[in-house]
Amino acid sequence: MSESPLPLTLFSEDEDAFRDAVRQFAQAEVKPLVRQMDAKAQMDAGLIRKLFELGLMGIHIPESLGGAGGSFTMACIAVEELSRIDGSMGVIVDVQNTLVNNAILRWGRSDQKERYLSRLASEWVGAYALSESTSGSDAFALKLRAEDGGDHYSLKGSKLWITSGAEASVFIVFANINPALGYKGITAFLVERDTAGFTIGKREDKLGIRASSTTELLFDDCRVPKENVLGEPGKGYKIAIETLNEGRIGIGAQMIGIAGGAYEAALSYSKDRAQFGQPISQFQGVQFQLAQMRIDLEAARLMVYNSSRMKDHGDNFIKEAAMAKYFSSKACEKICSTAIDLFGGNGFTKEYPVEKYWRDSKIGQIYEGTSNMQLQTIAKMELAE
Ligand SMILES: Cc1cc2nc3c(=O)[nH]c(=O)nc-3n(C[C@H](O)[C@H](O)[C@H](O)COP(=O)(O)OP(=O)(O)OC[C@H]3O[C@@H](n4cnc5c(N)ncnc54)[C@H](O)[C@@H]3O)c2cc1C
Repeated sequence: MSESPLPLTLFSEDEDAFRDAVRQFAQAEVKPLVRQMDAKAQMDAGLIRKLFELGLMGIHIPESLGGAGGSFTMACIAVEELSRIDGSMGVIVDVQNTLVNNAILRWGRSDQKERYLSRLASEWVGAYALSESTSGSDAFALKLRAEDGGDHYSLKGSKLWITSGAEASVFIVFANINPALGYKGITAFLVERDTAGFTIGKREDKLGIRASSTTELLFDDCRVPKENVLGEPGKGYKIAIETLNEGRIGIGAQMIGIAGGAYEAALSYSKDRAQFGQPISQFQGVQFQLAQMRIDLEAARLMVYNSSRMKDHGDNFIKEAAMAKYFSSKACEKICSTAIDLFGGNGFTKEYPVEKYWRDSKIGQIYEGTSNMQLQTIAKMELAE
């Protein structure tokens, strides 16, 4: 049984053992490099290799393709445990598993699965490119054009904000093959990094998850063979919506990981730090702050794992996933902010971990659909029922 100070009784023994293994890796190997990776805004290449060695980049890819053959919930467990130490490590694993691998597993032809999933499980980082400078929340207003060239499509335009852009070897890219059809022209492409006409553009200098690369992608008559269309031409909008519905649960997992790390740090500090002749944890005011953090964390964890279980079980989880992402990202920011309060002046410095948890928490309310977009989904579904 896991020695997690934050146990949830709903996990199986296998899941507990998996959680322990990821926790051990994060604690022993990621933690010593966190400050340096944040300061340099650079993920350690050796740690990325370790993620592959541990099977964390292909958690629910079948074993026949070199993956670990696990569940979606196991991917969430990995993202939570890594994010407890570093939100950037959490997101590289999240995008790989819940977006890229997931989309290829669901919509890839068998030859695409063979080529891409075996590499994604063992050596290739993947990225998911939907957003552009003029289309974020309104994702289907994307302008990247894919012109039919007979045996290939020629991609012209750019993408922005692409997580893992600096490290990725393969990108799922959404482009429009016929803008006259509106969103029904959107098509998903598998684009390999060395494709002629494809380059990685500027890298963002960010507030949080700084070690996770966020880049622009540039397409200048980038010829992608027709065999690299993922799913059917014109059905990319469906792939984008359905993958993000699932990916959102992974972002919730990242948020509960970050929040758990901040909570545990604050709990431990409050027992050590003495004022007025006693540990600050002895003051009822501080105890109530800790109790409130713990309640918010518990509620967020239950929501995240409820939606991941629903997905694994084949239930309709869309509303629950939107609620889990909305709630966990708000709760995470609040918990990390209170953690800084409890550290006092120390919390405001880079000598202690909580300012980074707070910086990393903010992204949860922005990517894979802002909080307003989650509210819109939830309200739409409520009103339709
Ligand atoms: C670090 C980082 C990593 C990212 N990684 C990826 C990635 O890997 N792949 C990818 O494709 N994208 C990625 N993104 C992009 C991300 O998904 C978008 O930033 C996000 O969807 C919001 O879009 P936007 O930035 O254009 O904001 P906008 O859409 O311009 O929104 C601005 C504000 O307006 C509000 N708003 C907009 N429309 C409405 C409405 N109808 N009703 C109410 N409020 C509204 C929003 O809630 C928000 O508060 C990433 C972004 C960041 C910052």
